[in-house]
This record gives sequence, C-alpha cells and structure tokens, in this order.
Amino acid sequence: MAHPPRTAAHRIRRAVLLALASSVCASCGHSASEPDGDPRAIEADEFLFLAHEGVSDDDVSRILEALRGNAARIRSHLRVAEMPRVRVSVWSPSHRDDWTQAMQAALGQVYSGATGYTPRKDEMRLLLNPASPSESVHEYAHLVSFQVNPTIGNNPRWLWEAVAVYEAGSAPDLRTWTDADLAFPGLHALNQYDSSLPYRWGYHVAMGVIARWGDDGYLALIRSNGDLQGSLGITEAAFGAYVEGFVRGLAGRA
Ligand SMILES: [Zn+2]
Repeated sequence: MAHPPRTAAHRIRRAVLLALASSVCASCGHSASEPDGDPRAIEADEFLFLAHEGVSDDDVSRILEALRGNAARIRSHLRVAEMPRVRVSVWSPSHRDDWTQAMQAALGQVYSGATGYTPRKDEMRLLLNPASPSESVHEYAHLVSFQVNPTIGNNPRWLWEAVAVYEAGSAPDLRTWTDADLAFPGLHALNQYDSSLPYRWGYHVAMGVIARWGDDGYLALIRSNGDLQGSLGITEAAFGAYVEGFVRGLAGRA
C-alpha cells in the first residue's frame, strides 16, 4: 500500500483552482471532529477531508480538484457504480512525526519515504508534497479496485500497483529507459516493497493487458487476484515475455 514518493508533476489550472478554493472554504470550520480542531474536517462531494495542522484550504483544494477530475473516469473504467464516502486524511510535512506515528498505528510498521497509503477500503492518507494531487488519484484508484475485489490490496502487489499507476495515468517516459531497463524483471521483482519496479512497470503491465485482452480481461485479472492462467490463459513466463515485447514495441526498440 505504501510507496516511495513519486515525482510526477501535476499541473493545476488556476481558474478552476480558485473556484474550488472558494467552494471548499464555504464548508470549512463547520465540523471539526475534535475539540481542538485538529484535524479540520472538510466535506466536499463524496469526500471527507481531514486536514491536520499545517494543511491549508488551498492544499485541500488542489487535491480535491485532482480527485474531481478523475474519480468518475476511474469508477467507470473499473465498472464500479457505488463507492463508500472516501476519507482523505492529509498531514503536513512540518508534522512528519504525527504522520509516522499514524502509519505505525495503522500498518504496524513505517514505510520511510512513503507519501500515500490506504489504511482502509474507504480511506487514503497523504503526506503533503507537490505531487499530492496526482498521488491522491493513485490512492483513489486503489480504493476503487477494492470495490472490484476486496482482497486485491498488495495481493498480488504487481497488479495492485499496476492498476493504480495506470488509472492515475502515471506513464513512465520510455525514451529515458536504457536497454537494461527494457528487460522485464519478472513478477517476483514487481512484488517487492522496497523497490520502484512495481511503479516503473505498472503502467505498461496494465496497458498491455488491456491491449490484448480488453477491459474484460483486465477486470477478470483483478477479480482473480492476478491469476494469469485462469483469467487470461497465459503462463507467467509467457506473460513476462509479452509485456517486455509490448513495451519494447512502444519504445520503438523491439
Ligand atoms: Zn500504490
């Protein structure tokens, strides 16, 4: 669930942001969930933001804009009609100790460098950074995939992250990949936690599945927790060879 920080830039359209900022402020300060007002609860559409100390309304607005711009598309692609109300808890980097303590309590361990995770099927947690808007879309995709299959969380990890990276549109730039990078490392390598490989390959793993087996195959794979033989009729070795060939073809280096 946790993952290292990603660096994907996220452009914010200023006019939309300003409009959102005003709509968020209309509801802020009405429903603090604790007597001292921390975290600050902000209701917006299907989301309930819990903004911890140091997180501004503008920070919340940027994340909300990204979620509003992507949530319906992701639900539609994964054929999820209904979502529970999603709680979006946000910590400031100036209170990193609180973030770390909350992660330890929720996950039983700390993934250092992680800036987002999903402790429950209806909650994402974010450590504020410039990529938080795009990271919130990644975490939202995880939450939608829970509705497709409640046991999909990191099971298997290669597919769990592939779905989130693909649905969030976080495509890697294949022009920067060396020849060594283009060698598929295998699903075992993509199941590791202290590795960027699940994120590096995830987008094209999902894209390759959809290109050959369609959305039906993609969803069958998610529902079967990555049973390649059962859902797609392909062995793991053949799948790895297919993905590598698919990526090499996209990169123009077959
Ligand atoms: Zn993830």
